[in-house]
Amino acid sequence: MPETPGSPLRVAVVGAGPSGFYATDALLKARQDVSVDLIDRLPAPFGLVRYGVAPDHQKMKSVTTLYTRTASDPRVRFLGNVEVGKDLSVDDLRRHYHATVFAYGAPGDRRLGIPGEDLVGSLPATDFVAWYNGHPDYEHIDPPLDGHTAIVIGVGNVAVDVARILAKTADELAGSDIADHALEALRASKVREIVVLGRRSPAEAKFTTKELREFGVLEHADVDVDPADLELHPASRERVAEHSTEERNLEVLRSFAERPARDAHRQVSFRFLYSPRSLEADESGERVGAIVVERNRIEAREDGSLAAVGTGQTERWPAQLVLRSVGYHGSPLPGMPFDERRGIIPNENGRVLDQPGGDRVPGFYTSGWIKRGPSGVIGTNKADALETVQALLEDELLTPEDPSPEAVDELLADRGVYTIDFDSWRRIDRIELALGDEHGRPRVKIVSRSEMLAAAAAEGEATQDF
Ligand code: NAP
Repeated sequence: MPETPGSPLRVAVVGAGPSGFYATDALLKARQDVSVDLIDRLPAPFGLVRYGVAPDHQKMKSVTTLYTRTASDPRVRFLGNVEVGKDLSVDDLRRHYHATVFAYGAPGDRRLGIPGEDLVGSLPATDFVAWYNGHPDYEHIDPPLDGHTAIVIGVGNVAVDVARILAKTADELAGSDIADHALEALRASKVREIVVLGRRSPAEAKFTTKELREFGVLEHADVDVDPADLELHPASRERVAEHSTEERNLEVLRSFAERPARDAHRQVSFRFLYSPRSLEADESGERVGAIVVERNRIEAREDGSLAAVGTGQTERWPAQLVLRSVGYHGSPLPGMPFDERRGIIPNENGRVLDQPGGDRVPGFYTSGWIKRGPSGVIGTNKADALETVQALLEDELLTPEDPSPEAVDELLADRGVYTIDFDSWRRIDRIELALGDEHGRPRVKIVSRSEMLAAAAAEGEATQDF
């Protein structure tokens, strides 16, 4: 391996979310003489654990204790507030590291491609999630919560997260680390009906049972399931018999269908076998006022898949908020190859390729959602990162011009980039936790970038005008 004699293996990991941390951890465990720069465009680490996991799922966030341990290893530096593609180019990475692992996730949303999709009040669920979790880039999106009915399109775990957050009262959410601006907006919410819409039958839904069950214990919301939706196509029945999650999901949905309504403040309705066909504007001409849906039936395909096929029968339902929860989609990074169709960096077991099925790009690797697409739970990224790191350690790597950490620091300083290291992040963390203590919450998040940077500055340290 052409490493500079006497200097450790220098690796850049782009993205300090779960996959970035697991890749870093795998590198640390595999080699003593390694030095990792964990780079993130935000001043705060932890990616989707901080900005994706629902605020009322605090237990899931405890994994940050392990990530903190990884970041505290003297062989790791956190370079927060540094954007690859803007502050550092891909060529800079080649000049300063033996290898780079791209683990920046899939921050964008998949589009539905239906008329009216861009009306005001129709937004990607991924934006709504980032908004209530206090992501600095989504603080001001202001989702309109002044209407009666919200439709959530899709039946994955993100769909049930956003439906549950809409269904909970502000008091139910107050004990979480939901962003203050979202808590206030949700406190004033006029949404009374939340419809979760699946294009196939409940047997094909992607949500998991634990998440589904949470609708059964909402303090002020009824849950409604049409028993007719639980009459399955024979092929769906077969699938359920073979898969325990689907079987358990059906049991829970059956119990919801049998429950008497309590005439609660809000209602969550699960509706299956409907596809969105268009969104219609209200009288303003700009804001969503209704959704047109088509009734589907299930068709078993030769390849074993179960497809939703339109019956031609449409219905029009009034709706003032539409959250499109049909999956995340990766974005390209300047200077990097990208598979537009799948929304990933083309790769073979984590080794970056110059195009899908193409040649290897030496020294470049990928891990997590930007490697395999947006699927799996947080822990899935651990095995995925291991595979990538194993490939990296087997390969001939780059011979960087200057692999010293100081060279990267100088470059960033010359470009006027204010880097947040892990100690600076800990200062932000301590302030958030202290504010949380004061208010009986796990933490009160600092949302805006400028406030985060000010909080990160050590006492007495001159803060620049951010
Ligand atoms: P997902 O699980 O892939 O679900 C996407 C949903 O959108 C599916 O129901 C899909 O239906 C539907 N869909 C796609 N295209 C559609 C269209 N054109 N019209 C109507 N419906 C359409 O994605 P996700 O919910 O964004 O979750 C991403 C990943 O994060 C998943 O692995 C998820 O488990 C994970 N996650 C986990 C948690 C948790 O553990 N609590 C929380 C959030 C997210 P089809 O099946 O018919 O395509």
